[in-house]
Amino acid sequence: MSRNITEQKGYFGEFGGSFIPEDLQKVMNILEENFELYKNDPEFLEEYNYYLKEYVGRENPLTFAENITEEAGGAKIYLKREDLNHTGAHKINNVLGQILLAKRMGAKRIIAETGAGQHGVATATVCAMFKMECIIYMGKLDTERQSLNVFRMELLGAKVVSVDAGQGRLKDAVDAALHDLVENYQNTFYLLGSAVGPHPFPTMVKHFQSIISEESKRQIIEKEGKLPTAVVACAGGGSNAIGSFAHYIDEHDVRLIGVEPAEAPTLSEGVPAVIHGFKCLTLVDEDGNPKPTYSISAGLDYPGIGPEHSYLKVSGRAEYVTVTGDEALEAFQLLSKLEGILPALESAHAIFYAVKLAKELTPDDIIIVNLSGRGDKDVEQVFQLLNK
Ligand SMILES: *Cc1c(COP(=O)(O)O)cnc(C)c1O
Repeated sequence: MSRNITEQKGYFGEFGGSFIPEDLQKVMNILEENFELYKNDPEFLEEYNYYLKEYVGRENPLTFAENITEEAGGAKIYLKREDLNHTGAHKINNVLGQILLAKRMGAKRIIAETGAGQHGVATATVCAMFKMECIIYMGKLDTERQSLNVFRMELLGAKVVSVDAGQGRLKDAVDAALHDLVENYQNTFYLLGSAVGPHPFPTMVKHFQSIISEESKRQIIEKEGKLPTAVVACAGGGSNAIGSFAHYIDEHDVRLIGVEPAEAPTLSEGVPAVIHGFKCLTLVDEDGNPKPTYSISAGLDYPGIGPEHSYLKVSGRAEYVTVTGDEALEAFQLLSKLEGILPALESAHAIFYAVKLAKELTPDDIIIVNLSGRGDKDVEQVFQLLNK
């Protein structure tokens, strides 16, 4: 009983849209109306900017990475420091925007799904701050593998619901959260973690993550008096990448480069398909079902990708490349040793490619890499990988 009611709205070329049952579409329509109503509302913006500054710690720096620039011996490399945000990654930009919207819509309960736990922790954080009831759906298998993140969410006051159905993975958690939403939409807000899902989520998440490139554009012009040659970001669902690209999309001389894990090369090998209520390039198995993926960085482990990235890829505006887990591990150590910055394993994929690209360019060129998060969460895993 899936159908597409939104027509051109929420489409990026053939991608995006909203392929969901009618009762869920009703909830999405209400969400879209409210997002349109509040996104440019002066009071909403004032509150969003207040918390970005006082709670998240923005604006964060655009740091010149002197030592890896020297090591690469080509283009200048700058790091956009999303790792310095409260909670250690870019995800807080989006959850903050969405919870402020939820508050205005009169929601009392926030629900979210999480795989590895990063989005769940970010959501539980803002729920604590804004005194909202918080329910996080998580596959049973994931709760067992990420028991420390479950505890972290509980410390923040969230209730973590372990989902036993299906394979006990992210997809099953999404299904449980959607079921809750349809039952309880009158007082419940579904807070989605990446630039994916049915319209209006990809557009809304991009809107809140665009602060990354709004700042970096101003900062690079202040520091260098010109725009970068390239902007490089890792892409799982694609929220930090689309936020890093947003203000450069119309600057046609700026190369936009998304870096995917070689183990989940959605844009390189995916085909157009509907997944989780929207159309995007998707990795599928022989039967046409979304294919399970196995990246070393949980945050990049998704068989689909945001619809706008799918469009930027087929239209040729952005380039998408792949980096292996071993290469990311190498970049993790390189940035730690040379710059004194431990990157998230996700971000390390982008670092690896940026260093490689820098070598092919000249000292007149500038590369901005989005350092989407800090690596503290990955230290134990890196320890185990390196000692194997
Ligand atoms: C979640 C996460 C990602 C991947 O999500 P996107 O939506 O693709 O940005 C990347 N880096 C870090 C640090 C993350 O926590």
